[in-house]
Amino acid sequence: MSSEHNVISVSGGKDSTALLLLAIERQPDNLQAVFADTGNEHQQTYDYVFYLEQETGIPIRWVRADFAARIAHKREYVLTKWAEKGVAQKDIDRAAAALIPTGNPFLDLCIWKGRFPSTKAAFCSEELKRNPIINQVQKPLLEAGDDVISWQGIRADESLRRSFLVESEIKSVEKNGAELWNYRPILKWTAEDAFAMHRKHGIKHNPLYEQGMGRVGCMPCINCRKDELLEISKRFPEAIDRIADWEHAVKAASKRGMSTFFAAPSNDNKWSAKQTIRVIVEWAKTSRGGKQYDFIRIGDEADAPMCSSIYGLCE
Ligand code: SF4
Repeated sequence: MSSEHNVISVSGGKDSTALLLLAIERQPDNLQAVFADTGNEHQQTYDYVFYLEQETGIPIRWVRADFAARIAHKREYVLTKWAEKGVAQKDIDRAAAALIPTGNPFLDLCIWKGRFPSTKAAFCSEELKRNPIINQVQKPLLEAGDDVISWQGIRADESLRRSFLVESEIKSVEKNGAELWNYRPILKWTAEDAFAMHRKHGIKHNPLYEQGMGRVGCMPCINCRKDELLEISKRFPEAIDRIADWEHAVKAASKRGMSTFFAAPSNDNKWSAKQTIRVIVEWAKTSRGGKQYDFIRIGDEADAPMCSSIYGLCE
């Protein structure tokens, strides 16, 4: 006989924490919480996920994407096909030497792609959050013939796109009849409702909210605000150093030999060669009079670009 599994996606942010607490109140069948580790989160978020597990008593399963096979395949492609495409041997050698998996999901995704994600090509959320949860948690249950209810901590007031979502919808039906449902029980909640849920259960919120972070997720996120980037550079300079190192690694793996964390608004080689994370951090220190880039938000959180995923997995 098939059963129903309720899978709660936890990010360490306020909404998914409120979602987990709501699920604990409702006690649905076969509740399981999942955290998809991008490899680009702050240690305080990792610590917070452990704290949540300890305080709620609900085990939180960690999943990570693995790009080793795809990097190996790309390396083979570079070595056998790039010359036919007119790529210089020195560039082939450079990229092949850089196409080595590191074990960090975010970095390996970028090495494989030869670029960082951007607001226009936000493949990170899908590859690092959605797919590992689907492939490692939901799919095996569905293939066994069980139904899966995927709980998502999305609020309609976060964006226009999210305002059109419905609370509950069937996502897919397997050949064996097993159903995957999306369930968004906090869709009509406000951010304050989410924090109130923390207080109701005596659960602290992620401490990063008190340190200038508007959202909790990657540090930094490709969609971070100008003031958030500035805060990160002041409070957590090691995060900027890490991204600067990653820029070198991704640059080496790319065909053009250039890549920056904040991607060019268009296919602009001059940008990609020069606008490194350190340059953008310097810009973040400027006031509005400085040169402005349209991909990082300058205004209020409500206007901030955000993860384009409708799954709310990046908070
Ligand atoms: S959208 Fe931001 S938080 Fe989400 S995976 Fe991409 S970089 Fe990380």
